Amino acid sequence: TVSLMVAGQILRAGGRGGGGRGRSCAFLVTTACVLGRKNRLSSLSYASFGLNAPAAFPSQAFFPLRSPWRPKAPGLVGRGEGRRLFSEEGRDPPSDASEDTIFGKIARGEMKCDKVYEDEKCIAFRDINPVAPTHILVIPKLKISQLSRAEQEVGSKTAQDCLGHLMLVAAQVGREHCPRGCRYVINDGKDGCQSVYHLHVHVIGAKPLSWPPGV
Ligand code: AMP
Repeated sequence: TVSLMVAGQILRAGGRGGGGRGRSCAFLVTTACVLGRKNRLSSLSYASFGLNAPAAFPSQAFFPLRSPWRPKAPGLVGRGEGRRLFSEEGRDPPSDASEDTIFGKIARGEMKCDKVYEDEKCIAFRDINPVAPTHILVIPKLKISQLSRAEQEVGSKTAQDCLGHLMLVAAQVGREHCPRGCRYVINDGKDGCQSVYHLHVHVIGAKPLSWPPGV
């Protein structure tokens, strides 16, 4: 917007020596278009992850999530692999717990994922933004928004069945992908840093992990 406004000022100033001004305008308009394009791409990539583009640090909006150009900035937390953007931190639960999520689409096979395991009750796939060499998510096919609401949403018997199976599959994934041990994480609710409201177990490892975890 600023580039376009400056370009407009230069054009309004008019007069001789228009060649140089023309080149300046062309440069500014091109810059505005490129930034605008990046911004749109970025919004799309956030939307495709079921995330809102960050408002707290607006310049992040110019950088798609996986962009190698992502700057070191206050919008990023943590170090190295899997640094998180503000927008990926905990979100308020949706008002409607049955609301579909990106993991719902993965569970129904409507969206691609890097799958490592599947059975009739759950599916395991690699996290798109890994925090360690192995970072796999195990999700139930049945929609449960978060661990603390499992019984309320599907009833005690189904919750026990589903969660028991989920834990055993997570353990199997851990055994296969992290033979020296790993960490199983379930983020629950906004303060628990949950960003996708479809229950999932993070299986994280294939490197020595530190303790305490990010608290
Ligand atoms: P949580 O903060 O516990 O809700 O974790 C959500 C995780 O899902 C994050 O680690 C994201 O990197 C990951 N994630 C989001 N979208 C995808 C996707 N399409 N495929 C794989 N992992 C994803």
